[in-house]
Amino acid sequence: MKEDCIFCKIANGIIPTDFVYENDYVAAFKDINPKASTHVLVIPKEHYDSLNEVNDDKILLELLKGVKETAKALNLDNYRTVINTGKGAGQEVFHIHVHILSGKVLPKF
Ligand code: 5GP
Ligand code: ZN
Repeated sequence: MKEDCIFCKIANGIIPTDFVYENDYVAAFKDINPKASTHVLVIPKEHYDSLNEVNDDKILLELLKGVKETAKALNLDNYRTVINTGKGAGQEVFHIHVHILSGKVLPKF
C-alpha cells in the first residue's frame, strides 16, 4: 500500500467505501464525480501508478476479469471502459483504474 494514495486507502478500508464488486484482487466503487449515469472505477488492491507500471500479467488478467464481473454485478450489457495513462491523457489519480461508463456518457469520455 502506498501511504499517500487515495485509492489504496479506499482498497484497504481506511476510507470507508461501498464496493459494488470486490474479490481478492480488485475492488469496484462509484466515481465521486460521475461522467455518466453509471460511472464505476475498478482498481487492483495492489498499488501500481498506471498501466505502464503493471509488471505482473496476473494483475492485468484480474483487472479485466474484475471489469467483467463488476458489469455483471451491475446488470450492464452495454458499457464503455477507459484507462487514462499519464497526465497528458487526463490521468488524475495515480493508482491504475478502469472506468466503466454506461447510460448517458458526458463528452469527456
Ligand atoms: P482519471 O482522470 O485519473 O482517469 O480518473 C480519476 C477518477 O477518480 C475521476 O473520475 C474522479 O472523479 C475519481 N475520483 C477522484 N478521487 C476520488 C475519490 O476519493 N473517491 C472516488 N470514488 N472517486 C474519486
Ligand atoms: Zn494506490
